[in-house]
Amino acid sequence: MSRQIRAIIDRAALRHNLQQLRAAAPGRRVMAIVKANAYGHGLVSTALALPDADGFGVARIDEAQALRAAGVMQSILLLEGVIDLAQLLEAERLQLDQVVHEPGQLDLLERHAAPDGARFWLKIDTGMNRLGFRREQVPEALARLQAIAGGRRPIHLMTHLARADEPLQAMTGEQLERFAAWTAGAGLPRSIANSAAVLSSPASLEEWIRPGLALYGVSPFPDRSAASLGLRPAMTLQSVVIAVRTVLIGETVGYGAAWQARRDSRVAIVAAGYGDGLPRALPEGTAVLVDGRRCPLVGRVSMDMIAVDVTDLPEPPRPGMPVVLWGPGLPVEEMAARVGSIPWELLCGISQRVELVPR
Ligand SMILES: *Cc1c(COP(=O)(O)O)cnc(C)c1O
Repeated sequence: MSRQIRAIIDRAALRHNLQQLRAAAPGRRVMAIVKANAYGHGLVSTALALPDADGFGVARIDEAQALRAAGVMQSILLLEGVIDLAQLLEAERLQLDQVVHEPGQLDLLERHAAPDGARFWLKIDTGMNRLGFRREQVPEALARLQAIAGGRRPIHLMTHLARADEPLQAMTGEQLERFAAWTAGAGLPRSIANSAAVLSSPASLEEWIRPGLALYGVSPFPDRSAASLGLRPAMTLQSVVIAVRTVLIGETVGYGAAWQARRDSRVAIVAAGYGDGLPRALPEGTAVLVDGRRCPLVGRVSMDMIAVDVTDLPEPPRPGMPVVLWGPGLPVEEMAARVGSIPWELLCGISQRVELVPR
């Protein structure tokens, strides 16, 4: 083992989660979202572990290049489309689906699009106000795209939901109504749903679904566990104890002397820190699993290490013992909530020095 901290990726869990999402959206095609190194799970190995996915969604053209270089044959969608001629030519060469969300992309395509090729996805802004054509722009954008496609390249329609992870909010329903009204009669395949929408909003299920987080076995909802949704976490972020020490009452641990022992304590030092992607803001008391048992973090997260109070373990841990930062039995959602973040950010924030180990 070359590195102490590893992210073990359970490929069977990835496949299980894909099946669960298919069951929630029967008959729909699944675009597995694998941007940001597959939410930290490893772009290529994740895509290769999901041969049943109907397509993949990426944010950057280099991600699509890596997938094609690895032999991925399914459709691959550039979720933000192309920004210049070089990207367009590369996208066409690699037969990538492209999102078209702003007029400059139409200008570029009118001059340089290949006559045959992969799909165009016209993105419509139904309220997110990030990417996409506004209502009044849709008819012209669609007409221009149809002229570019010349009847030889498929056109799909998509939108993105701002509040799907809050099922009680009215905004999702409003966005669905707008999308339906603005695309009525177009007779084109559509896509709306991210993970949260697939799992909570049957009305959002169109020809294609676009799940990301749920594929990795993580809940998009603050108040519903992945287990209750039938999902299995695919990543175990795991390191080891590298030292065990006694800290006497009144002594402090780590930078800033931020934690002071209120009793004679046993503290394990674990090889994991903000250099691996653990948030430095993790508060005292955040749980990790030392040899399978929950123990609280003490003191500040440093670059390469954290300290954990193991006084209450029946047996003192030994160097080399495994420590789980998140994974089955300790959802990443819990750590994200502790630090006021979201699981998406923690997962894709794990750093280069974390070794990815697909199993
Ligand atoms: C990232 C992304 C998704 C996936 O979102 P999850 O909440 O992770 O399921 C879907 N659609 C678009 C356009 C995205 O950018």
